[in-house]
Order: sequence, then C-alpha cells, then structure tokens
Amino acid sequence: MIQMKNVYKKYPNGIVALNGLNVEIEQGEFVYIVGPSGAGKSTFIKMMYREERPSSGQMFVDDIDIATLKNRKVPMLRRQIGVVFQDFKLLTKLNVYENVAFALEVIEEKPQAIKKRVMEVLDLVGLKHKAKMFPTELSGGEQQRVSIARSIVNMPKVMIADEPTGNLDPETAWDIMNLFERINKAGTTVIMATHNQQIVNTLRHRVIAIEGGLIVRDVAGGDYGYEG
Ligand code: ADP
Ligand code: ADP
Repeated sequence: MIQMKNVYKKYPNGIVALNGLNVEIEQGEFVYIVGPSGAGKSTFIKMMYREERPSSGQMFVDDIDIATLKNRKVPMLRRQIGVVFQDFKLLTKLNVYENVAFALEVIEEKPQAIKKRVMEVLDLVGLKHKAKMFPTELSGGEQQRVSIARSIVNMPKVMIADEPTGNLDPETAWDIMNLFERINKAGTTVIMATHNQQIVNTLRHRVIAIEGGLIVRDVAGGDYGYEG
C-alpha cells in the first residue's frame, strides 16, 4: 500500500527533514507515527498526499509514484487518501453538509448519490442532525468529526491524520479514536502522527518512531516509548 525506499527530504533552507526512510505499510494496517518535535513526522505525512516531494529515493502510495507524479495528477492521488488535521481545516463559509459533499461534487457524482453518501457518513460520525450547522457553531470534537466524515466520503483506501486529537480534550479525543478504530476495522489503512501517549499505549497498533529524520523503532503493538 505504502512503500518508501531511501526517502530523503531536504527543504530549500537546507534542513534535512527525512534522512533515508525505508518502510512498508500494508493495506488495512493501523500505524502510529511518534517522535519528538522536529523529528520529521509531519514531513513523512505530507509526503503521502504529495504536499511535499521526496528530494531523492522512491515512494509509492497505492502504486502511485509520488516522486514523479505530475502536479495535474495530484487530485487523483488525493481521492485515494483521506486527510485529517489537528486544526480541522473546514471551510467556514460552508455548512457541515456542504463541507462533506464538496469532495464528491468535485468528482461530479450524481446529486442523489452525493446526498445519500453524505448523509451516510454524517450518520457514521453522529452528526446527521447538525448537517445544516456551520463549523463555528460546533465544538472542537464535532468539527473534527466533520473533517473525518469529509475524509472518508470518497471511501479512500488510506486515511492519514496529523495530530488529530491535538486540539481536543481527553474525552473528545477518545470519541475520535473510536471513529478511527471503526474506519480501520472496515478495511481502511490508518496512519496517524500523534503525541498522545495514553492513546498509543491503550489502543495498541504498530508504532513507528522517527527521530532526526530516521526510523529508530518500528514495533507491532508497540508502546509510545517516550515520557508523556
Ligand atoms: P515533526 O512533525 O516531527 O515536528 P517536521 O516534519 O514538521 O517534524 O519537521 C522536520 C524538520 O524540518 C524540522 O527541523 C523543521 O523545522 C523542518 N521543516 C519542516 N517544514 C519545513 C519547511 N516547509 N521548510 C523548511 N524546513 C521545514
Ligand atoms: P463540548 O463541551 O462538547 O466540547 P461546546 O460546549 O462547545 O462543546 O458545545 C456544546 C454544544 O453546543 C455543541 O453541540 C455545539 O454544537 C453547540 N454549540 C457550541 N457553540 C455554538 C454556537 N456558537 N452556536 C450554536 N451552537 C453552538
């Protein structure tokens, strides 16, 4: 599903964020990416949806070659991938329904099919009754649930999340994790960068630790491994 071979990333300012990553992630896996600030976690995540390109090395996401992918083909890649951010990144001028429908409208689905699918995912995240509300009218946890609905509405094979619980109180964070677990159990690969020690140590999955742009640990069912 995801393959990196000697992936190296040097930013224009000379900082080497990834210093030769080698990793394979299979379809259906749940993977936590952990490590100190500045380790390269976000760069690793951004590479997967081609927000950044490797400076050298090989990288494939679902057989798409990220290093050589043409800019005009990036939307095609992103339709295979759901992305969830710490700060939700919802469109403030659109209501909940419209935020979720947007991803389907751009791929020209039929209106009836869009409506059915949007209501289905809003039901999954428990927000069907708030379809007409705007992001600013929702709590942080609700906004994150909208962003999760948006990320899965296309039925992507992989969901990528960068600190998805970082702005949420602990109880709300667990609600969000329950959704991720359900999405993963339905067969979607989940890759999540996190600093949440308690979640990593409780909901056990593969843990990949990155430090100084290198994978320093890769353990199935591992623990967070740093002091909280
Ligand atoms: P993490 O997510 O683990 O905190 P990042 O991938 O954000 O790590 O950053 C890795 C390193 O790359 C850091 O030294 C950071 O300052 C640097 N970096 C990240 N993004 C950029 C950028 N757009 N331009 C230059 N340097 C960057
Ligand atoms: P929580 O305590 O669950 O994190 P809040 O206290 O922010 O959330 O909100 C509780 C409920 O009130 C939520 O269901 C949210 O949709 C609603 N709500 C919050 N802010 C507003 C607002 N500005 N306008 C309308 N409804 C709101």
